[in-house]
Amino acid sequence: MTLPSARLPRSAVIREVGLRDGLQSIATILPTAQKIEWIRAAYEAGQREIEVGSFVPARLLPQLADTAELVAFAKTLPKLFTSVLVPNLRGAESAIAAGADLMIVPLSASHAHSLANLRKTPDDVVAEVAKIRAARDSAGSRTLIEGGVGTAFGCTLQGKVDKNEVLRLMQALLDAGADRVSIADTVGYADPAMVRELFEDAVKIAGDRFWCGHFHDTRGLGLANVYAALEVGVARFDACLAGIGGCPHAPGASGNVSTEDLAYMLASMGIATGIGIDRLLALRAQVAQWLAGETLHGSLWQAGLPKTFGLAAQAVSA
Ligand code: ZN
Repeated sequence: MTLPSARLPRSAVIREVGLRDGLQSIATILPTAQKIEWIRAAYEAGQREIEVGSFVPARLLPQLADTAELVAFAKTLPKLFTSVLVPNLRGAESAIAAGADLMIVPLSASHAHSLANLRKTPDDVVAEVAKIRAARDSAGSRTLIEGGVGTAFGCTLQGKVDKNEVLRLMQALLDAGADRVSIADTVGYADPAMVRELFEDAVKIAGDRFWCGHFHDTRGLGLANVYAALEVGVARFDACLAGIGGCPHAPGASGNVSTEDLAYMLASMGIATGIGIDRLLALRAQVAQWLAGETLHGSLWQAGLPKTFGLAAQAVSA
């Protein structure tokens, strides 16, 4: 008989996306020096993948106008894998020039959401990825391209998003030259059964090019959805410190899965992340001060680690 936990990955990566997904959706503009402090402290807490910003025009997202500086700083930290978001070829050219390790191109599987947010159809975004791939290759750059399929479980404008359409677009991104693909529940519509069904097929199609699961906790199912993805072998997840990055359509609602809660869940289950949770909680307290007045989320910081935390690991190593 196999124990359920035997099927889970032994290690997992948490990609911090608070500096992009989180900060872009709140009004406070963090000074560059504080963002650098955040990146440094996250690195010292053991985080090795951070999305530091987005190459979009500063007039659209003044919160993220210092992305090139942040990439330059992140590159000084050994073995830190630095991601940025790019909406189009122009952004990709900036990411290549900055020397980011990876650029995420967001695609919305919901046609209505895609037209409203990106002013492009999903297939227009696929065509843009082909151009980005050509530009990357002709520049001799090693910046990886990740196609991120968002609104994959439904959306506030269109309602239902067909699973087959999500999988078709994911395949199209790979065919257009994306090195990696990921799936996001942008508005918190997913439940664990939906995640298992979609991610199982996504992993079959993309194999080890399936890179990441991105879940929101809008309706309290963020960590349950992570667990469902772990069960089909996915071992990389986006998360935001303090769960920032709320839902624009539901003021006050929870945002992304919180980094500290996710790090705690994985560690408690014996899945290695390399993250020191005490340091992460100290960083959370610091960021909470910087973001005074903003709505933050997460549970672990309120209760702290349980007294039994780490006992199982100590017993194994003893
Ligand atoms: Zn998000």
